[in-house]
Amino acid sequence: MFGSHLSIGGQQGMSGAVREAVRLGLDCVQVFTKNQQQWKAPPLAPAAAAMWNEAIGEAGWTASTDGSQRVVSHASYLANMGSPDAELWEKSVGLMREEVERCETLKIGLLVFHPGSSTGSPREEGAERIARGAARLLNETRDYRTVLCLENVAGAGSTLGRTFEELAGLRSRILELAVELGVDAREAEGRVGFCLDTCHMHAAGYDLASGNDGGMSALTQVRAVLGIQNVRCLHLNDSKGVAGSRLDRHEHIGEGTIGLKGFEAFLRDEVLSGVPKIMETPKGETKGGEAFDSINVSRLRAIARGEIASVAIVALSEKKDGGSTKARSLEEKTERVSTKGGKGGKGGKGGKGLKSEKDETGEKSAKGLKKKVVKKVAKKVLKKRG
Ligand SMILES: [Zn+2]
Repeated sequence: MFGSHLSIGGQQGMSGAVREAVRLGLDCVQVFTKNQQQWKAPPLAPAAAAMWNEAIGEAGWTASTDGSQRVVSHASYLANMGSPDAELWEKSVGLMREEVERCETLKIGLLVFHPGSSTGSPREEGAERIARGAARLLNETRDYRTVLCLENVAGAGSTLGRTFEELAGLRSRILELAVELGVDAREAEGRVGFCLDTCHMHAAGYDLASGNDGGMSALTQVRAVLGIQNVRCLHLNDSKGVAGSRLDRHEHIGEGTIGLKGFEAFLRDEVLSGVPKIMETPKGETKGGEAFDSINVSRLRAIARGEIASVAIVALSEKKDGGSTKARSLEEKTERVSTKGGKGGKGGKGGKGLKSEKDETGEKSAKGLKKKVVKKVAKKVLKKRG
């Protein structure tokens, strides 16, 4: 199952992202369920929820049809449950609670979040705060279906969740604390999983290109440390930074330091075949009007079929074709910024820097892109009608 992180900035909001995914021939989608730059979001309007259900129905993605997860929500980058600042911690748990509530209302089964940053305090203390926050979420939302997916990070600054061991440690501590709060152990286990990002993994030092083993040694470690059944989502991105660089910059599939071959093990694993695989690669389209997502997904599908040799790469990356500076991925930008903000002692300060820079970068380009897409769709609709 292949999908993409798509913008909710268009006129149709979240439901527009579902329709766009279908138009691109994707099987699933990842969205923000609210403006990811704001702490406070207006409550989810019943009309928006109804439109969402309609779009999901049209796509044939209603969960009951085959039980698989077609929609993934990515939590806001503002939340940091690892923060040593008590006020910011409380605010972060509150924001995450809102994220879980929205997922539940919209029947979104998976909520991906970056564990957080200890922001200069000892890492173990940061990890304990994250676990405490997540356990509280589970306790406050008993009987909900949404699974919290801890995403591995590239590991710049004091961000937590770089190594599989650290991620596994977070999950087991969350479960322990949730059970202490009275949450049923089996329920808790089912509600905490992992989302693995290939770019982050590679930048963190799990070299997917080494030995030409197609990423098999990394996958073997996933099996041993995380348990493959706990991997609920994959983010498939190539990497601009070299292995171990801790640089979180996403690249088109096959055009970065991972290369086509480095995706093989994860794409050809049977257990992972039913897991949503989301591209967070740069958005945009070729001069000929073909969406980058369509090209990247065709590369991924070819690797999954064992047909790497058939993939002819015409470079999409901006350096090479010079055309599309607009088209950097939203996550890539925001993450680069968030690691910058990671060191600045007080949470408030970091948060401010984060916001202003994001305003200049991620959202604007995403909006521009969406406008273009909306225009195109409108043209198509007019054509059909006419
Ligand atoms: Zn990611």
